[in-house]
Amino acid sequence: MGTGTSGGVPVIACDCPTCTSDDPRDSRLRTAACVRWTDDTEQQRVVLIDAGPDLRVQALRHDLRRCDGIFITHNHVDHIFGLDETRRFNAAMNMAAIEVYAEPVTWDALRRVYKHVFDRASNVNNSFVATLNQYVIPEPEGDTGQRLVPQRAHARRTQGGAGVPIDIHGMRFTPIRFLHGRQPILGFRIEPVPGSGLADRIERTGGTGFPAAWCTDVSAIPTKSWQALAGVRTLALDGLRHRHHPTHMTLQQASAAAAEIGADRTLLIHVAHEVLAARDEAALPDGVRLAVDGLTLFADGSAAIETAPGNWQPYQWTPHPNALPVPEGLPPIETPKTEPPV
Ligand SMILES: [Zn+2]
Ligand SMILES: [Zn+2]
Ligand SMILES: [Zn+2]
Repeated sequence: MGTGTSGGVPVIACDCPTCTSDDPRDSRLRTAACVRWTDDTEQQRVVLIDAGPDLRVQALRHDLRRCDGIFITHNHVDHIFGLDETRRFNAAMNMAAIEVYAEPVTWDALRRVYKHVFDRASNVNNSFVATLNQYVIPEPEGDTGQRLVPQRAHARRTQGGAGVPIDIHGMRFTPIRFLHGRQPILGFRIEPVPGSGLADRIERTGGTGFPAAWCTDVSAIPTKSWQALAGVRTLALDGLRHRHHPTHMTLQQASAAAAEIGADRTLLIHVAHEVLAARDEAALPDGVRLAVDGLTLFADGSAAIETAPGNWQPYQWTPHPNALPVPEGLPPIETPKTEPPV
């Protein structure tokens, strides 16, 4: 839903080539994603990854009508300052609650920033606030035995690795530890729950879209976390700009990490205005592209760009040379898709 760095692109008060570009690829909302599918009871499901300041515009652009869960990668403004907008999803879902998943340190920030939401006594006028169920993601380090239950903050550690998978209506989100400068944050591996009806349906598409991984605001991948990226076929990875940055990967660092991970396709996200799409994308290695806002990846491995509700534009992959061939018989990507994938 968004592929830009913290200030968005164009940034305020800038006349650089990117910020004055007519190329739609050079217009980037704050980085965020949504995962849409139809579950085994035929109910559509929507899960967001992060809730940044552009959430309202993003929800309108993709005609999101509900929200079943939100995974928060970390506590920075560009990833949490849209959480207030989610009250509209409560209203659209007969006031059903939304499940929010975050680490203890992230919850500390959410409860401070949104005190009026999480501490009813602070909402003096009893005004309309989001109804959010709080789930704490335990430290990713493999099988910790910790149960995923609402609880208060506990001490944090920075060990790498994968966390306890979180299954929502047939879709599995596995937390992965990354480093964002000195700050430990989360990415997510995303795939259908093995053995579920959803997994069967995706399998029948011959799809190459899953497993996917969303890895924003990453400057380093801890040793133990590489295992959680094994076999990922669609990778979204932080690629800020050319010049070094203490808390983000450069395009070159991201390209090197992408080559190690070996996904069929890697999309660079959290892109800054130093990057000009027409100039810089061609220099990326095979299989690595700049993501664009609205880019929709379908489970069957195809892709299209949703520029407005129901308005689809084609998007063609340049697959990684080592990628498995895309199966034949897939729907042409020029076909307008009015239904969510799967
Ligand atoms: Zn960010
Ligand atoms: Zn600029
Ligand atoms: Zn950040």
